[in-house]
Amino acid sequence: LNANALGQKLLCALNQPYELEGSPHHKTPSIGLTLFRDHEERIEDILKRADLAMYQSKAAGRNTVRFYDPSMQAVVMARSALERDMREAVAEGQFVLYYQPVVNAERCTVGHEALVRWRHPQRGMVSPGEFIPVAEQTGLIMPIGQWVLRTACEQLARWATHPATADLTIAVNLSARQLRHQEFAAEVLTILDQTGARAERLKLELTESLLLHDVEETIGKMQQLAARGIRFSLDDFGTGYSSLAYLKRLPLDQLKIDQSFVRDLLTDPNDAAIARTILQLAQSMDLDVVAEGVEQEGQRQFLQALGCKGFQGYLFGRPGPLE
Ligand code: C2E
Ligand code: MG
Ligand code: MG
Repeated sequence: LNANALGQKLLCALNQPYELEGSPHHKTPSIGLTLFRDHEERIEDILKRADLAMYQSKAAGRNTVRFYDPSMQAVVMARSALERDMREAVAEGQFVLYYQPVVNAERCTVGHEALVRWRHPQRGMVSPGEFIPVAEQTGLIMPIGQWVLRTACEQLARWATHPATADLTIAVNLSARQLRHQEFAAEVLTILDQTGARAERLKLELTESLLLHDVEETIGKMQQLAARGIRFSLDDFGTGYSSLAYLKRLPLDQLKIDQSFVRDLLTDPNDAAIARTILQLAQSMDLDVVAEGVEQEGQRQFLQALGCKGFQGYLFGRPGPLE
């Protein structure tokens, strides 16, 4: 209590505006606190804990005091271990691509979505839900994303040589960060040229989060790629920042109904209404629709009755290795 009171006092004092070289300045300090009892602990360790607490108070929006909490350290350590392992994974090629079929109204496979997996030497298969967010924060998504795109394009080129597989598409997921990268469009075109994949068979999946930054530049890059024949799909539609004003300006071909709306489609009237609305919207904007996470025949029939023509989910096949 005393420590906290002192922290608050410091905060107040530092919040007072002050003058620096004639102009007024204002500070919003972040204070981290840690308590220690005896003198056996090393100073560096105590400072490290105070530092962690300070980062917590920065993360909490600054201008505040936070106490050190041991769970903070566990989180930080697990994260830095993941980051270290991921750097190694990039260098050693520990990633694998899984493919999940996308089917049409006749249940014929029209293409696949490429879903990355990490074959961790100790932990086994790690799902993207666990490492993609860290890869995005650390920038490691750039080399990983490049590898995914190249691998998918190499597969397309291989499939193109057999009549049975020549028409299959592959959809690759992109992070907003990849798309924001200055050289993104040029890099994709280089990969197409080097692998010999047909642009028309490649689909790029984006989420609405890309609409949060540099929208004009992003649209420009998308248009450049669309001009080459690459198609774009808006993933997890309805879960993010669905700006209809931007939606009509993006060169999109497809919307994917998020699996969270498909899951309870048959029992939750709200989900059914959302699915119906997305299908109507897509129809009026001349976009294809793929429903994700279709697990039951009843869901498929319901969606098909609403006009849905593309389906993906465990009902047709789980993501699996190429073989
Ligand atoms: P997503 O693109 O929406 O992919 C669909 C996810 O739903 C996949 O999870 C898939 O395994 C899962 N799924 C498919 N059918 C069903 C079903 O019938 N029931 C249920 N319960 N789930 C189903 P996964 O493979 O774990 O991928 C999660 C997310 O990670 C993806 O969501 C995508 O956003 C991201 N991701 C995956 N691969 C990549 C990648 O190469 N690059 C980037 N940037 N993100 C990726
Ligand atoms: Mg996807
Ligand atoms: Mg999705």
